[in-house]
Amino acid sequence: MAGKRDYYEVLGIQKNATEEEIKKAYRKLAVKYHPDRNPGNKEAEEKFKEATEAYEVLSDDQKRPLYDQYGFAGLDGMGGGGGNPFQGGFGGSRAFHDFSDIFGGMGGGAGGFSDIFDNIFGGGRSSRRRDPNAPQQGQSLRYDLNISFKDAVYGTKAEITFQHNETCTECHGTGGAKGAKRKACPTCGGSGQVRRQAGFFAVQQTCPACGGEGTRVDKPCSKCRGSGYETVTKKMSLTIPAGVDDGKRIAIPRMGDVGPNGGPAGDLIVMLHVEQHEYFERDGRDLYCAVPVTFAQAALGVTLDITSLDGKKIKFALPAGTTNGKLYKIKGEGVPYAEGRKGDLYVKIIVQIPTHLTSEQKRLMEEFARIENATTSPSCVPLASLSR
Ligand SMILES: [Zn+2]
Ligand SMILES: [Zn+2]
Repeated sequence: MAGKRDYYEVLGIQKNATEEEIKKAYRKLAVKYHPDRNPGNKEAEEKFKEATEAYEVLSDDQKRPLYDQYGFAGLDGMGGGGGNPFQGGFGGSRAFHDFSDIFGGMGGGAGGFSDIFDNIFGGGRSSRRRDPNAPQQGQSLRYDLNISFKDAVYGTKAEITFQHNETCTECHGTGGAKGAKRKACPTCGGSGQVRRQAGFFAVQQTCPACGGEGTRVDKPCSKCRGSGYETVTKKMSLTIPAGVDDGKRIAIPRMGDVGPNGGPAGDLIVMLHVEQHEYFERDGRDLYCAVPVTFAQAALGVTLDITSLDGKKIKFALPAGTTNGKLYKIKGEGVPYAEGRKGDLYVKIIVQIPTHLTSEQKRLMEEFARIENATTSPSCVPLASLSR
């Protein structure tokens, strides 16, 4: 992959760009370089492909961290580093969610935009010769939902609002006004496909006039303008179970876009993003927090005041002689994972060595050192002899 440009550079964004910024940057480039707008322009097509590949990786919760950490090498075998950027992800027919999401109405219902795509990239869908009148599954949609650390641990309810396509209530999906007749589409002559030259490629593209159906109504439905769909805003209450992890996907069946020709709707995939907590980290069922103690407290022992994630005040007796980095377990204060069962809370002790001593502290410390009878010039010892 010599000469391949950094994905962030391709999209012209910062390394810490938000999902929204990534999407926005990509939308801008895709609109500018889209093959439909630049027929026969090889450079635009390359730019379009480059931007799409960058977007596909940076908008993916699994691929982006890999790319950030290891660069292109991190994506080997995931389909992001080379050939077809649409492998992986949701896979198969669902690979285009983000796309429909990004372009909203641009695709113009079925096919359209994503089909152009398949043709350019040689992706899976275009090779499937389908009967244009057969019912097809609708697009699945993706919804990104941020939830707090605490809500991820204990579960919550979330209200989500999204848009999807439903069968038009006026024409019941036929796309025709009352009394309208279906005729062979004049644009494609009824085949549902048109051929177009795009640089090197002679692409077979879904007919933009009939959306691949091969027929058109002579009098389109006034409500949906012949598409058979209408875009509807939906509100739903979603139950997030306790103990979900960052990146978890919750599929809500049949809440995506309705399918062409009366096919079933796709799913709505809710992708959970768990925010970080100020005090706690999580590893599966266990929680971790950290408590700094002074050198003297660690040596003599002290009572710690711990506040658990659910706000419970816990007194914890730190034993005398606690070493730096030691983990103490508080049972049952972790993440709930089954009826009445919870993981544990681990408290990490950070022993702080004083960096500025008052003259009295210094005097006492020197006295301490004298009676401690420590070696005057410390040197290395066998590692196994260290108590950790
Ligand atoms: Zn209609
Ligand atoms: Zn047509």
